[in-house]
Amino acid sequence: MSELKTYPIRCPRCQREQSVELYESINVQADPNLRQRLMANDINVVRCKDCELSFRVDKPLLYHDPARRIMIYLVPFGAADLGTGERQFADLLLRLEGLLPADLRAPHIGLVCSRIELVERIFLLEAGLNERIIEYLKYLLYTRNAERLNPATKELLFNAEDSNAESLCFVVQDVETRKLEAMLKYDRSVYAALSEMFDRDEQTPRLLELFPGPRISARALLLKELGPEPEPPES
Ligand SMILES: [Zn+2]
Repeated sequence: MSELKTYPIRCPRCQREQSVELYESINVQADPNLRQRLMANDINVVRCKDCELSFRVDKPLLYHDPARRIMIYLVPFGAADLGTGERQFADLLLRLEGLLPADLRAPHIGLVCSRIELVERIFLLEAGLNERIIEYLKYLLYTRNAERLNPATKELLFNAEDSNAESLCFVVQDVETRKLEAMLKYDRSVYAALSEMFDRDEQTPRLLELFPGPRISARALLLKELGPEPEPPES
């Protein structure tokens, strides 16, 4: 079931404070319309009663698709608050543990820190792909194209729409302008070979070592090596 909670929200333009209902969690099996609204950037969007400004409130949101066993927690935070984000994530896991029957296998649950990352992760999991392998492919793309692809200014996003049986597509997005600049492709056979390799080795040590979680992100990993991550811009 989706969960709403009332918050006092101040309009950033006219400063009027109003009580608004915002989503704590959305269950897209019970209400498929909420998935569409998320894709259209229409979740937790407030319209000011006075000046009619529409603005999105960035707050934690749990995305739940029980039919596909997908659970993703969005905590909008920058690198400076990574600890906060991970603490909130740990709190959520504890809360869920109390709610789920003991014999139920833990659902697939991930942590993302922006709406863009959330949408990307949904498409990726719906396509039956493993997020660690996808982030590993991104990691390879970043490191092999270091001159063109600076993780501080460019973000690589998995592009489900243009991916097909032969290749997996990634788009390069400029972090500041949010413009899509280029498309990079990876042969599916590379994914398949990696997947097989990691499947054979049950613990997938290399992948787990690179991406221990809860946040699995090639860009975050590379930025950590480079220094502090800039605040994510509005999306
Ligand atoms: Zn207003």
